[in-house]
Amino acid sequence: MENELASLLSAWDIPVTDRQQEQFALYRELLLDWNAKINLTRITEPDAVTRLHFLDSLALMRSELPLDNASLIDVGTGAGFPGIPLKIMNPSLHLTLLDALDKRCRFLQEVADRLGLMDTGSVTVLHGRAEDIGAAGRAGHLREQFDFVTSRAVAKLNILCEYALPLLKIGGIFASYKLDDDTELRDAEKAMQILLASSDKKIVYELPETEPTRAVYLIRKNGPTPEKYPRRAGVPEKKPLQ
Ligand code: SAM
Repeated sequence: MENELASLLSAWDIPVTDRQQEQFALYRELLLDWNAKINLTRITEPDAVTRLHFLDSLALMRSELPLDNASLIDVGTGAGFPGIPLKIMNPSLHLTLLDALDKRCRFLQEVADRLGLMDTGSVTVLHGRAEDIGAAGRAGHLREQFDFVTSRAVAKLNILCEYALPLLKIGGIFASYKLDDDTELRDAEKAMQILLASSDKKIVYELPETEPTRAVYLIRKNGPTPEKYPRRAGVPEKKPLQ
């Protein structure tokens, strides 16, 4: 798999070191081992893990965003996508992995420890909901703490805006991994307006042997999130801003 990931990444002009290849190999091994015990992914064929999880997660690196020493929270990270691949490739990143399911958090902590991801930068695994950690005035809240928020396969974009934007510093970027279809972006226009954000650009890409075309939508936070957002846990999903 090492060579395969290296050649997939070279097509994107992204160099990968031996250590990074070893880290990806161990990550894949842990993912497939733990997946036999707890539900982490439906993708179980090793080459498919490399393409559909690892390579897909790294699409954000085609944006030339300044990830060095930046703080990034991956909302609804599940088995660590896209946060962990981004951290392997950008060791100085200060990464927070957030998920609502505790057993997935135990897996994430094991990966962080075994891959030595804390050698530089940092990794914090957090069990919780985006609506709780983003709420103003809550103990331990992480409102307006991050340069970047990422999210993949968690919710529709208008719902995600309410999860992600409160966590960003003003000027920060929310990177939402989606299929390349602007319908969700149009449906999120009202949410972006209410939450003082705007669509910046999208990174359009394809994964080998896979359809359809994908995109990472970049959304910029332009001003402070109004205090009443995010609403209580579960409300953004039940009554999305629109
Ligand atoms: N991002 C991963 C990926 O692309 O493979 C996981 C996607 S999985 C389908 C969605 C994950 O989001 C689940 O692990 C779930 O527990 C988490 N999740 C959903 N809503 C959330 C919320 N409001 N706050 C935190 N995590 C949430």
